[in-house]
Amino acid sequence: MKKNIYIIGAGFSALSASCYLAKAGFEVTVLEKNDTLGGRARQFKKDGFTFDLGPSWYWMPDVFEKFFADFGKKPSDYYTLDKLSPGYEVYFGENSSLKVSDKLEEIYKMFESEEKGSAKHLKTFIDSAKVNYDIAVNEMVYKPGISPLELVTTKTAVRVGQFFSTIRKQVRKNIKSLKLIKILEFPVLFLGAKPSNTPAFYNFMNYADFGLGTWHPRGGMYKVIEGMVSLAESLGVNFKTNATVDKILVDDKNNVKGISVNGEELPTNLILSGADYHHTETLLDEKYRQYSEKYWDKKIFAPSSLLFYVGFDKKIENVSHHTLFFDTDFDAHAKEIYDTPKWPTDPLFYANFTSVTDVTSAPEGKEAGFFLIPLAPGIEDTEALREDYFNKIMDRFEQLTNQKVKEHVLFKKAFCVNDFKEEYNSYKGNAYGMANTLLQTAFLRPKIKSNNVNNLYFTGQLTVPGPGVPPALISGKIASELIVKNQ
Ligand SMILES: Cc1cc2nc3c(=O)[nH]c(=O)nc-3n(C[C@H](O)[C@H](O)[C@H](O)COP(=O)(O)OP(=O)(O)OC[C@H]3O[C@@H](n4cnc5c(N)ncnc54)[C@H](O)[C@@H]3O)c2cc1C
Repeated sequence: MKKNIYIIGAGFSALSASCYLAKAGFEVTVLEKNDTLGGRARQFKKDGFTFDLGPSWYWMPDVFEKFFADFGKKPSDYYTLDKLSPGYEVYFGENSSLKVSDKLEEIYKMFESEEKGSAKHLKTFIDSAKVNYDIAVNEMVYKPGISPLELVTTKTAVRVGQFFSTIRKQVRKNIKSLKLIKILEFPVLFLGAKPSNTPAFYNFMNYADFGLGTWHPRGGMYKVIEGMVSLAESLGVNFKTNATVDKILVDDKNNVKGISVNGEELPTNLILSGADYHHTETLLDEKYRQYSEKYWDKKIFAPSSLLFYVGFDKKIENVSHHTLFFDTDFDAHAKEIYDTPKWPTDPLFYANFTSVTDVTSAPEGKEAGFFLIPLAPGIEDTEALREDYFNKIMDRFEQLTNQKVKEHVLFKKAFCVNDFKEEYNSYKGNAYGMANTLLQTAFLRPKIKSNNVNNLYFTGQLTVPGPGVPPALISGKIASELIVKNQ
C-alpha cells in the first residue's frame, strides 16, 4: 500500500515537493487554505487584465529546466518562454534611465560608455560570478542544510574569503559610477538583505542577471504554476483548496499522528509543510516547537511590500517590461527597512508592465501596471498609508517618465503587510521569506526536518536554500529527497 503524506500549502516549494514525492510512490494530498493554487505566485484577473500577484522575474532558467527534466519533461511542454530585450530598465532621475541589454557584449559597452575602464572590471567580476554560479547551482544549493561540511569542497575552500566579504565591497572596489553600482547591487535584493550584509559569493546573482538573462513565460508566471500543477496531477497528486490546516497532531512518542483540516482530524504519520515555517510551528503545541518567538524576532527577514495592480486605459510610455526606479537614496530606504523600521521617507520602487511584451495581460490599447515598494516587515498597514504612498509614487512616476497616468487609472488593487499575514500566514507579513545573509545561509537556516516531531518536514523560503522561485523549486526537491531517504 502507498504511504500517504499531507503537504501544507500550494506554493512553488510545495508543488515541487508534491511532484517528487508522487514520483517516489507516495500518495500525496496538497492542502491549500486559499481558493486557488500557487501561494504568493497566484494570479489576479479583472476586466480583461491579468496580473501575477507576486513573482514576475523569471531568472535562472536552468533551474526550471532541471526541475522538469527530473520528470522527463521540458518547460516548453507547459509554457512558452520569451527572453526579454532589454532585460529591464533602471531610472536614475527625470528622463534619465539605462536599459540593461539581454546581450553581455552590449552590457560591457553600456558600462564603458558610463564609466571609462569599467567594462574590464565588469568582465572580471562576471567571470568570477559565473564560476560561483556553477558552484552554487551544481554543488551547494541542492544540499539539505544538515551539516556545515556540506559547504566544504575544494572549490568553496579557496573562496572562503568571499563568504566574509560583501557584495557591496566587491562591487565598489573598482566601479565608481553610482548608476552602475546601483545596477550591480540590485540582483542581491532578491536574496532579501542589504548588499552590505550579503556575502560576496552571492555575486552569482549577477551572472544570473547579465549572463543568463531575464525571461518571461507568455501569459505570466502563473503559467509555471499551471504547468507544475498539471505535472503533479499527471503523477497522481490530489489537490484540496479552501483547506486550512489548523493543527498538527502529535502522539506521546513525538510522532506525527494526524492533521486537522478545517476542524476535521485526518490520520497520517507524515507531513511536509510548505507554509511559512513560523506559522507551521504555531500549528503545534508549544512544547513541540523548535524555535522560540525570540529566535524569529532576531532573524533578518526579507522585506514586506506595498503592491498595486493597476489597469490603465492607455499604453504607458517610456517604460520597459521591468522598470526599476532607483532615483532615490537606496541606503536611506534600506535603513528604514532593516535598521529603524518605518514607512520610507523617499522609497525606491519597482514597476512592471507585462503588457509591453505580452499581449495577453491587458486589453488592446491598455496597460497592466504592477508597482512594488519594499517595506519593513511587521510595519503598521492602513488604507490611508497605502493611498498616501500610491499618490507619492504616481507623482514620481509621472515626473520621471514624463507623462500623465493618474487620470488614466481604470482600477487599482492594493496588497500590503496585513494581506501577506491574512492570505499566507506570513511572519510579520514578509513578502519573500528569510534573507540569505552569512549567518542565515545553508545549515544556519531553520531545518528541513523537525528535531522535535518525528516525520514532520518543512520546505519553502524560510528554510534552505532561501527566497525566490528557483530556490523554492530546489527546496521542494531537497525536502522530498530527505523524506524518501528517511522513510
Ligand atoms: C511581491 C513578490 C514579488 C516577488 N518577486 C519575485 C520574482 O520576481 N522572482 C522570484 O524568483 N521570486 C520572487 N518572489 C519570491 C517568490 O515568489 C517566493 O519566494 C516563492 O513564491 C515562495 O514560495 P513558497 O512555496 O515558499 O511559499 P508560498 O508561495 O507562500 O506558499 C505557501 C502556501 O501555504 C499556504 N498556507 C499557509 N498557511 C496555511 C495553512 N494553515 N493551511 C493551508 N495552507 C496554508 C499559503 O496560502 C500559500 O499558498 C516574490 C515574492 C513576492 C511576494
